[in-house]
Amino acid sequence: MLKIALIGCTGSIGMQTAQIVRRYKDEFCFSALACGRGGGTFDALCEEFRPAVCYRAADAAREEDARAAEQRLFEDCDVALIAASGFAGLRYTLAAARMGKKIALANKESLVCGGALVMRAVKEHGATLVPVDSEHSALFQCLAFRRDAAFSKLVLTASGGPFYALDEDALARVTAADALRHPTWKMGAKITVDSATLLNKGYEVIEAKWLYETTFDKIEAVVHPESIVHSLVYFEDGAALAQMGYPDMRVPIQLALTYPKRLPCEAPLDLAALGKLTFLPFPAQKFPCFGLAVAAGKAGGTLPTVLNAAAEEAVHAFLAGRITFPAIAQTIECALDAFPREEAESYGQLAETDAAARRFAARRMYGK
Ligand code: MG
Repeated sequence: MLKIALIGCTGSIGMQTAQIVRRYKDEFCFSALACGRGGGTFDALCEEFRPAVCYRAADAAREEDARAAEQRLFEDCDVALIAASGFAGLRYTLAAARMGKKIALANKESLVCGGALVMRAVKEHGATLVPVDSEHSALFQCLAFRRDAAFSKLVLTASGGPFYALDEDALARVTAADALRHPTWKMGAKITVDSATLLNKGYEVIEAKWLYETTFDKIEAVVHPESIVHSLVYFEDGAALAQMGYPDMRVPIQLALTYPKRLPCEAPLDLAALGKLTFLPFPAQKFPCFGLAVAAGKAGGTLPTVLNAAAEEAVHAFLAGRITFPAIAQTIECALDAFPREEAESYGQLAETDAAARRFAARRMYGK
């Protein structure tokens, strides 16, 4: 029985993980469930699965309380599934890494903001990092479940989001409701908007750089509207391996828990019914968030944290109807221009950078 500590249990990944645990009661159980603010869904999950530890981050009044809670969360688990959304996920990934745990990582910001710190902690404490993001899971599968295998290039596929075909004028008029209509994947609101701006693909490039210990010049993105090919690995001889499947996050979540073993999940592909697969050039020019993310990732240090903090605030404002779609990228760009790069030394320093960049973004958007 694999004991899972699930952080972010009420989000989209968390709820799909609960479905998997329900389906495979003899394989998995929850040793801990944690969420940000909680509510009825959290109470119901705790009631149903009765884990030894139930934790609401909002209840930790002081930093010491939060640290003590993190120890308890991971004490008894075989795998820490980090599915919290945003910068808030980083501290859990670091805590689990420092306890030498196997970490199934669904929180992108852990590697985007804290890649250097996380990778150092993973190595120092003998932790294991397993990708949950569908693209990185695809790469992991193509590399035979090794993060240190040789390859010549990683190619991330992107659906292109709902606005791939729009011109600049049309992009200036799109609403939050338009952005939330993702063509292929069902996900939380923040990541769905990040898929529409293509910021998400920039994040995934940074994630791939850290996960597969490679350089940015070996990572590319291509648009693939059907979201059937989840990513590809190219090798020295020109051979390319792809992983395919219907877009369903339960497959990579489940595989992160069981690999190299596979358990039945959803229906296998019907290729004849699909008919054909399409690939298109990646529209980096039209969607500046992608380039901003990659540039911040290349610069490293504290800048990816600035990028992410500004993005979280800007997407929040866009979802509330307070700024336009193009203003998301403008807010991020201004924040990146305003903050100097510093070496990333500690979580505390990144948390301060995160707070300062959020204040900056709010001032820029609302003038206060
Ligand atoms: Mg993804």
